[in-house]
Amino acid sequence: MPDARHYPFTAIVGLDQLKLALILNAVSPRTGGVLIRGEKGTAKSTIVRALSALLPPVAVVPGCRFSCDPAAPEPACPDGPHGPRPDASVRPARLAELPVGASEDRLVGSLDLERALTEGVKSFEPGLLAAAHRGVLYVDEVNLLHDHLVDLLLDAAALGTCYVERDAVSVRHPARFLLVGTMNPEEGELRPQLLDRFGLTVEVAASRDPGERAEVVRRRLSFEDDPEGFAARWTAEEQALAARIAEARGRLRDVALSDAALRQIATVCAAFGVDGMRADLITAHAAVAHAAWRGGTEVTAEDVRAAARLALPHRRRRDPFDAPGLDESELDELLDNSKPDPDPDTDPDGGADSAGNGQADSAENGQADSAENGQADTTTSGTGDGEAGGAGKGQAATSTARPGEPYRVRALTVPGLGTGSPGRRSRARTPYGRVSGSRTPVGRLTSPHLTATLRAAAPHQRERGRTGPGLVVRPGDLREAVREGREGNLVLFAVDASGSMAARRRMEAVKGAVLSLLLDAYQRRDKVGLVTFRGSAAELVLPPTSSVEAGAARLRSLPTGGRTPLAEGLRRAAEVLRVERLRDPSRRPLLVVVTDGRVTSGATADVDRAAALLRGVTSVVVDCESGPVRLGLAVRLAGRLGGEAVRLEELAADGLRELVHERRKAA
Ligand SMILES: [Zn+2]
Repeated sequence: MPDARHYPFTAIVGLDQLKLALILNAVSPRTGGVLIRGEKGTAKSTIVRALSALLPPVAVVPGCRFSCDPAAPEPACPDGPHGPRPDASVRPARLAELPVGASEDRLVGSLDLERALTEGVKSFEPGLLAAAHRGVLYVDEVNLLHDHLVDLLLDAAALGTCYVERDAVSVRHPARFLLVGTMNPEEGELRPQLLDRFGLTVEVAASRDPGERAEVVRRRLSFEDDPEGFAARWTAEEQALAARIAEARGRLRDVALSDAALRQIATVCAAFGVDGMRADLITAHAAVAHAAWRGGTEVTAEDVRAAARLALPHRRRRDPFDAPGLDESELDELLDNSKPDPDPDTDPDGGADSAGNGQADSAENGQADSAENGQADTTTSGTGDGEAGGAGKGQAATSTARPGEPYRVRALTVPGLGTGSPGRRSRARTPYGRVSGSRTPVGRLTSPHLTATLRAAAPHQRERGRTGPGLVVRPGDLREAVREGREGNLVLFAVDASGSMAARRRMEAVKGAVLSLLLDAYQRRDKVGLVTFRGSAAELVLPPTSSVEAGAARLRSLPTGGRTPLAEGLRRAAEVLRVERLRDPSRRPLLVVVTDGRVTSGATADVDRAAALLRGVTSVVVDCESGPVRLGLAVRLAGRLGGEAVRLEELAADGLRELVHERRKAA
């Protein structure tokens, strides 16, 4: 078991919740995997690699690239058939790592279509799903993985099968693995439906205890100094843990899940407002695993508590901008009120052991986070006023309006055909869109266009000596599909936060509009940035990021008041876009200027000069002018930018917003 390449699992300091989550999955594969959330440098990868060394070894058919079990080889194995009594060999459980930039072929495997079409030979190169079968599949930065890959990954995880189909050729093989993903929430959240597919989530943060931190460094140095010697010193602990996992796995079937415990699980899940039944199922599986792990024979309240803490935080119905979290005291209260029996068999030591001190740390963090979020929601004006006092520079009274309710907005797009990262906004050449044409393959053939291929082969049949019914296809006939889909863009907001916009109701509406546009950007997988201008300067409040939550938070606390330095705002936006173009040339920008167009600081000629810097950028001006007399300044600004002006009231996708308003009024 000791492996010099890995840092030993048992030598990792703290992170008790994470260790528990991984162990529960090792004990019971039905626990559904783990999503680890946390900043960089929290040993997320170290611990996942360390875990794979603890998994029970697997018996395989030698030479089978799909890890067939000799006791029950897969009848349709692409490397088969293996016969009724194949040889057997034992190897350690494997860890396969899926890099964020991986291609579809790398994940699911690749069919050699050229051979299939020209020689009629089915040749399949296994991908990472095959490598991970009966082991661990690890996805670092899963939140940055392209939707299409996530879908393939989660389908495979749900079905336990990898299915590859390219036109008429298909291959299928089993792919059952423990899925572990990591993400840094600062780089953007996972969509809720993907969050839900992970069994458990754990929030990790570096310890703030100096003693613990020192011990982490001490061990790390010692490991780097002499990896083998270090691993050897932990052999006994590692073996004991591996044995305990194997033992718990064996005992899993014998753990009883009483009706009372099931009812307790249902009560907790219902009270926390989770969607669907998956939360109940996962909590039940995790509770059973926890009982087996601590050596119990029956699921107790303690098991349900441990399971709920890991299975529920990411499943609560919520605003997409909120970070996952769970109120621990609420959980305790619920559990107390729904105890399966008045006397659950004492305080199980195994459970208490894993719910030990280290946890207090991460629990505290979670609570602090959610408390902060809650505050941002309810006491915006309070926080904002404080900030405004510092930033206002005595220009004029400032205030902080709370954003209005978000709504569905009209689709704003960049015209033309882009080549940016896949997303859901503007038209673009993408590998996964619908077929829009065909061409001679560029590189390896991955997506053949059969009609075009047949059309290319047809005129040559006689000269190629075709006699039978089959068409004679040569490599030169092959055509690939040209696909068109949608890309994500960089949506840069330049928001006028000056006094002319500050009438409270107006600013509520403006913030509500920007919040809606942010929500839209989140769903379309854009990057977003936020420039604001008020007083005498423009400020880059949010540098371009995929984290729309950060944008929403900045917006909520954005103070308003003072003069309108419109030219300054445009210049700042132009500068941000220039830098981003250097960073990511294929991501096309969309500038959304939110203003009433009134200029109270600087000359209009200045605005013209600034607008000229934005030539070639697709711009939309959201016209916030209100009142009986309209000056049409925002429309004029749109003209200068060569863009379109949309009245604030017309930003909603349809009559939806009015409808909601009407219903509120009626209620
Ligand atoms: Zn096989």
